[in-house]
Amino acid sequence: MRVVYVNGKYLKEDEAKISIFDRSILFSDSVYEVTSVVNKKLIDFDNHMKRLDRSMKELHFSKKINHTTILDFHRKLVEENNLQEGIVYLQISRGVVDRDFTITNNNIEPTIFAFTQEKKILESENAKKGIKVMTTDDLRWKRCDIKTTQLLYPSLAKTDSFKKGFDDAWMIRNGFVMEGTSNNAWIIKNKIILTRQSDNLILGGITREAVTNCAKALKYEVSTKPFTLVDAQSADEAFITSATAFVTPVIKINSSTVGDGKPGVFTKALREEYIKQALNNAI
Ligand code: PMP
Repeated sequence: MRVVYVNGKYLKEDEAKISIFDRSILFSDSVYEVTSVVNKKLIDFDNHMKRLDRSMKELHFSKKINHTTILDFHRKLVEENNLQEGIVYLQISRGVVDRDFTITNNNIEPTIFAFTQEKKILESENAKKGIKVMTTDDLRWKRCDIKTTQLLYPSLAKTDSFKKGFDDAWMIRNGFVMEGTSNNAWIIKNKIILTRQSDNLILGGITREAVTNCAKALKYEVSTKPFTLVDAQSADEAFITSATAFVTPVIKINSSTVGDGKPGVFTKALREEYIKQALNNAI
């Protein structure tokens, strides 16, 4: 049984509880981060903390949480649960208050909890074989840059993709590819690597940022601009990035095979470079 963290306490997972009045339950009024763990070390932790601060600031959460405290309980959870490879999930909600649409009390104590989950990251099947994605309308709100726990639509979209024999869904607005249900979308055409600019319509991925730097280190050309579904279906290579997928090839988009239907050479090189840098900088 896992040990989890709730508001300063380490508890057995079946003893961990939060209030039914927590605003994360009633309004999804909470933000989260997922940090991957490889060889018991945290990947890109500092950047996850920067994004966490930003998400909390955008939602006007009153209290800032100290990064050293967060690092301490992440490390303790990894240790207590002997987590070699997987993730630490962290969620911070505005807190517990009587149900009301208007937020009148700005002094609520945030609810903070975290837990570990084992997951194969370095040697994942998806990374070896590549994944198939279908497309779906992007029906999310227009503040996708805030990492809130309002995840019902992406969860339904991913489930629908599984039912239809795909591994994930890419969300489309006005013919343009926004992102995957929990990852950023990329294509490569004529040796140019394309990913959409980050604005209010997608989440600025931590891995996206790191992979952009990897591409520069490999002297590849990266262009951050929108691309359409038609562009994606005629691309030479395609891939996704996220904290747990790292760089994972996309080999099919709807009924179109991407390139020769196998993980592409640029994608493989980017994955290798990302793994090298991520493990070097893990803490
Ligand atoms: N977009 C969305 C919608 C996501 O949920 C995620 C995963 N958190 C990402 C992109 C990738 O972000 P990161 O690289 O920070 O995991």
